[in-house]
Amino acid sequence: MEERLRKMSRTRLAMTPTPLLSSPRLARRLDTSASLFVKADAWTGFGLGGNKVRKLEYELASERLANVTHLITAGGPHSNHCRVTAAAAARLGVKCTLVINGEPESASRGNAFLHRLFGARIVTVAERGQRDSAMAEEVRRIARRGGKARIVPLGASTPRGALGYVRALLELQDQIDGSPAWVFVPSSSGGTMAGLALGCAISGWRPRLVAVSADDPAPQIKDAVTTLAAGAAELLAPDSPALAERARRVAEAVVFTDAFVGAGYGRPTRESEEATHLFATAAGLVLDPFYTSKAAAAMVSWVRANRLEGIERVVFLHTGGHPALFR
Ligand SMILES: *Cc1c(COP(=O)(O)O)cnc(C)c1O
Repeated sequence: MEERLRKMSRTRLAMTPTPLLSSPRLARRLDTSASLFVKADAWTGFGLGGNKVRKLEYELASERLANVTHLITAGGPHSNHCRVTAAAAARLGVKCTLVINGEPESASRGNAFLHRLFGARIVTVAERGQRDSAMAEEVRRIARRGGKARIVPLGASTPRGALGYVRALLELQDQIDGSPAWVFVPSSSGGTMAGLALGCAISGWRPRLVAVSADDPAPQIKDAVTTLAAGAAELLAPDSPALAERARRVAEAVVFTDAFVGAGYGRPTRESEEATHLFATAAGLVLDPFYTSKAAAAMVSWVRANRLEGIERVVFLHTGGHPALFR
């Protein structure tokens, strides 16, 4: 299967492997004898990095862009996915339209600033529910002018995009020698966790995966992850229903929690603020208010409550999002 993954075409954007940072001071501050690690996917580099870069490598594989003149995608005013898609469009020499639900507090700050800096056309809609029809309308507008648009689905969380996190899982397994571990993952549209689950199904490594929601109810994320993991397996190995079944089982065994969302998406909680302070002062690492600070709060709570069940290694997947700190 790893050979098949190598043969799937992708556009190289990410700086990989990203480092696995041993973080002994973080462990000391949490008063745990476990070894804590940060998998630094904030540092995938391109377009200011984060998890969307690995997913877009597969979504934007060159044969999928034949004759394409425009990329279209959607997200909130501080979407990291929109930022990296706009940067990729610039690098690939195509135009980009971003359908953004809601106005940013300031268009000259954070990701809202970067969306514009990378040259994207911004179409604003009032509600999340209006994004799909606005994207479809944009496809028609571009076609009328003789162009050809490709829609990149929300968060690049497609079976193809998830392959980026199959690679990441294999990378991590190598870096940690396949040892038993907990792996905490900020989750929303589910592509990241789906890729990790399929990676486990392929490699046989079985870390304890925890998906920490940034917004949606846990059962909704679980559904998305399970479907995407099986879909990615079918894409990679259409002749192996056993792999899809294995991926589905790994996905169903993930711990999904929405207990750290607090008052809502991007709204800080006492725990997320404490985790942000902890990572900054004990590891020199910047967390973001939407995703990583909530997942770090979950990790801190797990370690403090001694829920590690004798497993000595804890990995925090840092999925990026720094620009939102400067919104
Ligand atoms: C998009 C995003 C996530 C969520 O990843 P999914 O694959 O959508 O679950 C997590 N962290 C950051 C920083 C993100 O931008």
